[in-house]
Amino acid sequence: MGKLDGYKVDLKGLSSDTVSYHWQVDNDFFSAVQGPEIKRGLLDVALRVKQTSGAYELEFQMKGEVEVTCDRCLEPMSQPIEAQSTLKVVMGDDFADDGELVTIPEKDGTINVAWNIYEFAALQIPLRHVHPECEAVEDAPEEEKTDPRWDELKKILHKQ
Ligand SMILES: [Zn+2]
Repeated sequence: MGKLDGYKVDLKGLSSDTVSYHWQVDNDFFSAVQGPEIKRGLLDVALRVKQTSGAYELEFQMKGEVEVTCDRCLEPMSQPIEAQSTLKVVMGDDFADDGELVTIPEKDGTINVAWNIYEFAALQIPLRHVHPECEAVEDAPEEEKTDPRWDELKKILHKQ
């Protein structure tokens, strides 16, 4: 995963109590992260790491846009992203991540924030995303659609 090495933050070796980082994440980033929701995009990401007693506060700020699929026409559409998120990191024995508090092994002392950046961006995507021109199309009565995987499962269940 050499492509994402640049997102490693050395908490143990922080040069001062507050350190700032800046990245521009692009298509290469999204293809390296291999997240499910976002495959392409361009975001300006600023990170401020603050060391407090026994913990580190990672404050992310991101702005830009990512490509998602329009719910209506299934063509790519651009989704603007502007967000701020904070992550708390502490040192411990083993790695743990509950979404808000990350524990990193003390002997390592570093955290790679590539996935956190991805997750924060993905969280900003609204549940429903539709091109404005697709949104304008009169709501047609939708046929009842079933998930093909669910159909397969039902077939299996009925056989038993
Ligand atoms: Zn559309």
